[in-house]
Amino acid sequence: MRDLKQIFTTYGYNEEETEQNEMVLDLMDDLCKKEIEPHALEMDATGCTFDVQTGKVSYPSQTYKILKKMAQNDLMGLAIPEEYEGAGLSFTLNNACYERISRADAGTSLLFGLQNSTSDVVEQFGTPEAKEHYLPKLARGEKIGGLLFTEPGSGSDLGSLKTKVTDDGSQYIVNGVKNFISNAGIADSFLFLGSTDPEKGSRGLTAFILDTENNPGFKITRIEEKLGLHSNATAEVMLEDVIIPKENVLGEIGRGFSIVLYELSAARIGIGAQAVGIADAAYRKAATYVKTRKQFGKPIESFQATQWKLADMFTKIHTARVAYLTAARMKDLGQDFAEYASIGKLYGSEIAQQVTYEAIQMHGGYGYVKDYDVERYYRDVRITPIYEGTNEVQRIVISRAEMKKNYAAD
Ligand SMILES: Cc1cc2nc3c(=O)[nH]c(=O)nc-3n(C[C@H](O)[C@H](O)[C@H](O)COP(=O)(O)OP(=O)(O)OC[C@H]3O[C@@H](n4cnc5c(N)ncnc54)[C@H](O)[C@@H]3O)c2cc1C
Repeated sequence: MRDLKQIFTTYGYNEEETEQNEMVLDLMDDLCKKEIEPHALEMDATGCTFDVQTGKVSYPSQTYKILKKMAQNDLMGLAIPEEYEGAGLSFTLNNACYERISRADAGTSLLFGLQNSTSDVVEQFGTPEAKEHYLPKLARGEKIGGLLFTEPGSGSDLGSLKTKVTDDGSQYIVNGVKNFISNAGIADSFLFLGSTDPEKGSRGLTAFILDTENNPGFKITRIEEKLGLHSNATAEVMLEDVIIPKENVLGEIGRGFSIVLYELSAARIGIGAQAVGIADAAYRKAATYVKTRKQFGKPIESFQATQWKLADMFTKIHTARVAYLTAARMKDLGQDFAEYASIGKLYGSEIAQQVTYEAIQMHGGYGYVKDYDVERYYRDVRITPIYEGTNEVQRIVISRAEMKKNYAAD
């Protein structure tokens, strides 16, 4: 926590802001220590379950308690403006909190991260009615956000998606299938991308808020058995005549793709933060373990090979933290942050693979069994180079931005 705080407070905040930021980070730290970390191993083991008959998803019981506590402590709407009952704090602080909660449990962190993504986009692109309706509820944790973008045939190539949206004059009607949907069974207010004009391809896509309340056509049809993130359900969703009211359009009809590109850019900063959080958790376990584990008559910490591993791991975590915080701060300052968001996500998710790998290595055989947590971090972190745009896609974003620059004229 000290490392995160130290870096975070170097970002040009005044004394009052620094005090406020520290207070929020302490609150998040306390909640993680009391409500999440002690239950993370069990939440991973229990996972989420799906009842095929009722279509109901159940989370570990602790998840519901954590959500309640986060809402009680006003942590669900940190970056939502005060006029909509949020805390009106920075996107940067929000992401530092995302790092902290990811250190405690990556699956649970998605509840926090996607709440932020949803409210950010509603605030930027929502109609006045939608902002009035959704933002206070998201801030109070009465509504939970999620993303309904991916389809079985459209992952990286979201522009090719097929889910159809028709306008019946008074409302929109949606039909299609979405898959790999996080927060499934808890989220009820999704950012949704569908095609309002299939002939126009990505220029015929429109973004909406899709509310599952009073919408029986929204059906979860399965949840995935997966490598990690067991405390969060990833689902396939069938959309059969799902209704979206007119005021839930985000931006303009046919301009949804650019809104989703904005969302993905901003959310990538969060994945950088999530990866750093998981890597930091693994690093802390390893740095602690090597002090107590003795071989050849001395703690393994005394071997130079171990010391250099610690140095490399910490350097990578620190650098990745600076990368995502820089992108977040650029967003707060109204600068073009897209390239830096991709850098934060790409670098953070790649070093996090290396750090969690080394954390297991430093535990020897004990790292391979569940009791020491590092096995879970290694599984959980594997998703970070994949979602919110694969790392191949991040390299495309970064290289395109770089090729536009003329360094010779600089
Ligand atoms: C646990 C989990 C949670 C998720 N949560 C959500 C969610 O909440 N909401 C949501 O909408 N989606 C979610 N997703 C979906 C996720 O964003 C996609 O899986 C991801 O974008 C990749 O799409 P894909 O799986 O179809 O892979 P593909 O796009 O099929 O990619 C396969 C491979 O091809 C590579 N590739 C593709 N195009 C190119 C290219 N042009 N150049 C080079 N390489 C390329 C990719 O990088 C990848 O390595 C989740 C996925 C998982 C596994």
